[in-house]
Amino acid sequence: MKLDILAVGAHPDDIELSCSGTIAKEISNGKKVGILDLTRGELGTRGTPEIRDQEAKKAADILGISIRENLGFKDGFFINDQEHQLEIIKVLRKYRPEVVLCNAITDRHIDHGKGSKLASDSCFLSGLRKIETYVDGEIQEPWRPKHVYHYIQWVNIEPDFVVDISSHIDKKMESVMAYASQFYDANSTEPSTPISSKNFSDSIKYRAADLGRIIGVPYAEGFTVERYVAVDSIFNLI
Ligand SMILES: [Zn+2]
Repeated sequence: MKLDILAVGAHPDDIELSCSGTIAKEISNGKKVGILDLTRGELGTRGTPEIRDQEAKKAADILGISIRENLGFKDGFFINDQEHQLEIIKVLRKYRPEVVLCNAITDRHIDHGKGSKLASDSCFLSGLRKIETYVDGEIQEPWRPKHVYHYIQWVNIEPDFVVDISSHIDKKMESVMAYASQFYDANSTEPSTPISSKNFSDSIKYRAADLGRIIGVPYAEGFTVERYVAVDSIFNLI
């Protein structure tokens, strides 16, 4: 199966928190979207990896994701090296996405910046013919995605472009709340964390509202780029 978009996240829930409105919108436009989680989020204070797996599946179903894979890298400790790059390259060559969405370039959680660079470097390396990868004994063709965009998660990074997600804000919030063990729940008996506060849950929606306000729509998501965004026509912008 060929994907239009592959969204890569260090932890299950990174994508839902940061760019699920954009993903829901593109799926409604007929695009095929996959998610690659680098770790199972096993160091998360609340819940267990098994609960996270179930929540990730539920969120993917809500969004209409075509495939969701997890590379099982070590939460908190994975590094950007050949071994980890090759695992991502295999996935890129298997699904041949045109666009890759990856973690914020820097963030509160150290895995986000690491995951961002690891995914981006892998996209570049995946296009090099002399890096040979095999799946089931078959050599894979090189593949370099046309675009790599970085979503924004905890830290308020200034976006380079924003996407109007007004008609998909409800799907976004529903996919976020699929991670019931992680976020605000007044009845939870698990320890409090920065992301389990009501303030954090509320911030997902008010950030989207704030980005929307600036571009004159109800809700939006922001991204940063590694090279200039180019447009066919200046009349195609909203
Ligand atoms: Zn994360």
